[in-house]
Amino acid sequence: MALKKRRLGKTGLQVTEMGFGGIPIQRVSEEEAIKVVKRCYDLGINYYDTARGYTTSEERMGKALEGVRDKVYIATKSHAKTAKELRENLVTSLKNLRTDYLDLYQLHNITDDSWNTINAPGGAYEEILKIKEEGIARHIGVTSHSPTFLTRIVGEGSPFETIMVGYNYIALEPSKELLSTCKKMDVGTIIMKPFGGGAFTNARTALKFVLADKNADCTIPGMQSVAEVEENVAVCGGSLTLSKDELDSIEIDRAALGDEFCAACDYCQPCPVGIPISFVLRTEMSTLRRMGWTEGTIKQTKETAPKVAACLDCGACETRCPYQLPIRKLLPEKMDALLKRLEERSIP
Ligand code: SF4
Ligand code: SF4
Repeated sequence: MALKKRRLGKTGLQVTEMGFGGIPIQRVSEEEAIKVVKRCYDLGINYYDTARGYTTSEERMGKALEGVRDKVYIATKSHAKTAKELRENLVTSLKNLRTDYLDLYQLHNITDDSWNTINAPGGAYEEILKIKEEGIARHIGVTSHSPTFLTRIVGEGSPFETIMVGYNYIALEPSKELLSTCKKMDVGTIIMKPFGGGAFTNARTALKFVLADKNADCTIPGMQSVAEVEENVAVCGGSLTLSKDELDSIEIDRAALGDEFCAACDYCQPCPVGIPISFVLRTEMSTLRRMGWTEGTIKQTKETAPKVAACLDCGACETRCPYQLPIRKLLPEKMDALLKRLEERSIP
């Protein structure tokens, strides 16, 4: 069955309701990465998202899509704060992606703070407008982990034609105001992290939950294997109504992960004593649930415990966490729980 398409706001692009998120193809071999992207294309996915910051992702995507460039939409993004940096990033991205234009160019992970720099004279904002005028970027957008920031920017009528935000059955904030504001302003909505960064019990249920929201134009789960691509495409082709069992599994995840949900974005880093914060916050309820105790997890748990004990209580991580998690409170709690599980070799 052909994937359904939705209009990506005022860009007018007709994108498949599920696109391809390019983060995970950095983690596999280049051969596998190209195979995954090509399988997406064969199964009808027409929207491909990557970023200058995702190491090899752009290059691999460029290789996979070279022969079909005019049949797909390619979006990338840049963390650049200044006009000069943004232009340099653009040149690299075009080279990596083997193209001379982008369907969508986005400012990556903007916060209220970084927006002040980006929006100042000589900042990346004025440059992205130029890049659009030149036709190198056919459309422009902004990505952020802050629904509040995005709601403000969209509500002010900024020239961005799309937003990207994390949204899933635990991170529900975007469904309160942001997505409906975007609909009203005709701004396209791209949804990242539908699987909560891998923390959820059932990826199928998580994908259905987001796809069922008609204010979400294009959902871009990260996929790193052909099997995952095929499974997700099958979900798109089936009924999006959640069964009683699926609704129950959502409630179980909500109860287990609640307000302590760490999206594994690692924006809280660097930590001056090298604490792998997302590892501590996520291992018990995510990694162990999925994979049990592996040699790697045992080793990292043992190495991490003394680092957590040496936390300086500086709070720098909390100022950077887009989800305002009380990291300093959570770290010792989660570390203790993990050590107890390690001693028992138990899993939740
Ligand atoms: S409060 Fe602790 S965990 Fe957070 S940045 Fe400081 S030392 Fe690292
Ligand atoms: S603690 Fe916050 S910033 Fe760090 S990985 Fe988790 S969600 Fe991201």
